[in-house]
Amino acid sequence: EVTIRDLSKSFTLGGRPLAVLRALNLDIRSGECLVIVGASGSGKTTLLRILAGLEAADSGGVAIDGKPIHGVGSERAVIFQEPRLLPWLTVLGNVAFGLEVRGVPKAEAEDKARIYTALVGLAEFSDAYPRQLSGGMAQRVGIARALTVRPEILLLDEPLGALDAMTKIGMQEELARIWSEENVTMVMVTHDLEEAIYLADRVLILPREKGGTARLVDVELPRPRDRSESRFVRYRE
Ligand code: ATP
Repeated sequence: EVTIRDLSKSFTLGGRPLAVLRALNLDIRSGECLVIVGASGSGKTTLLRILAGLEAADSGGVAIDGKPIHGVGSERAVIFQEPRLLPWLTVLGNVAFGLEVRGVPKAEAEDKARIYTALVGLAEFSDAYPRQLSGGMAQRVGIARALTVRPEILLLDEPLGALDAMTKIGMQEELARIWSEENVTMVMVTHDLEEAIYLADRVLILPREKGGTARLVDVELPRPRDRSESRFVRYRE
């Protein structure tokens, strides 16, 4: 479980302080999919970066299973909007890279990478180079690369934001499948409310206005996730 206590973060913008997160309290349950939405500038990316350990809070903090986090950690993996693949490595090489930088021997890293490359449906493209992939395929490589390190928590910042509508739908289904098969806690930022409802167990809505409070909404939908009309009708009731 991830506990966020009295988390505050301000930036200095034009010489004046800009409070982005104000005393946020939140428990993220193990294995849930929490989706963060909110207006542009409401602090979604800032919160995700703090959870990733890429940004420090001004006050308050984040703990995982009771242990405060300090910087990045191997139990957390981050997926950004652009997968930032290494152009000189193949798909398999890119997926294995996350393990190799952690000191896993190349052959072992590639064996594990093969499993996750197949999981995201790219087994046939193992030897392809990033320039030979579509945007959706490149993002799937990014997801596989994050999964090979077996993170407990997957942090995703608009992972599907750069994709066309059709590719996006396929990838949403893929994320839902990965989430259910991998027993991973997912925290995802998105601008797409339909995506939030489709994937989330709970949606965190960050306030737009100064002094507003963050709200947490349960999305109670039957499992497994599917896109039948009835689910969306149920949601609207
Ligand atoms: P968007 O939906 O547009 O991506 P967001 O909700 O993810 O927005 P953040 O990127 O977290 O918002 O930014 C929140 C606020 O913090 C913005 O007003 C932004 O200008 C400011 N901010 C973020 N990072 C910095 C920084 N490094 N220095 C100064 N201000 C920053």
